[in-house]
Amino acid sequence: MIMPVIELREVSRRYDDGPPALREASLTVRPGEAVAILGPSGSGKSTLLNLIAGLDRPDAGTVTVDGVRVDLLGEAGAALYRRSKVGMIFQFFHLLDDLTVTDNVALPARLAGTAGGKADRRAAELLELLGIDRHARTYPNRLSGGERQRVAVARALVNRPPLLLADEPTGALDTAAGQDVSDMLTDLNAEGQTIVVVTHDLALARSCTERTVRIADGRITGDVRSQAVASQAVAPQAVASQDVR
Ligand code: ADP
Repeated sequence: MIMPVIELREVSRRYDDGPPALREASLTVRPGEAVAILGPSGSGKSTLLNLIAGLDRPDAGTVTVDGVRVDLLGEAGAALYRRSKVGMIFQFFHLLDDLTVTDNVALPARLAGTAGGKADRRAAELLELLGIDRHARTYPNRLSGGERQRVAVARALVNRPPLLLADEPTGALDTAAGQDVSDMLTDLNAEGQTIVVVTHDLALARSCTERTVRIADGRITGDVRSQAVASQAVAPQAVASQDVR
């Protein structure tokens, strides 16, 4: 059997004396899946993402990502895990404004010990793949929101993580730029990238994911595969040959 990318088993998390933010949540994500996590504000989406990303630990249950028991990692182990196993993108990009686009993208590779030249080549390859190579020497504050999110995606992928996590990636973008980012995630998924995206954006959930998981009050209340992607699966050639731009 193929190892899942994410395996959550009965994961619970509560903060201080509040009600549980997650209650016995179980979720399996297989390689190549694109999953949207939907739910109202306060339902536990960020808590779930933080546990998968190794930014937080559950009170009960297990979190396994690409074979790593994330819930058992200490601080150093979690840092190493995040560098090698997950790429993250956020609503507000979190780019470093005093570094060029290339240096932003290459930074996680350098931190992981990749030599400077090799890290730069990998960054250049990703910038080209994502259609922003002309901005390689630009600083992020000169770019549009959509372009910044592309840079953030390139940075997230620089260490070839098995999992891309996205937290409201279109939340700060206008409709056109949001669609652009959504198309980019769809194309990356068609190339085999496993993606989990937390979003309020139903259009994003519909267009770039094949599976929608709903959370309410810390519980997983729904898990549905979409028709759109079921039909894509019939013609994988057509999807694979799409240009990633
Ligand atoms: P969502 O991402 O769906 O908006 P969250 O996972 O952020 O939901 O929050 C789930 C619940 O946990 C909410 O009731 C929220 O107030 C609470 N919560 C989240 N983070 C913390 C924290 N660091 N300390 C205390 N309570 C928190």
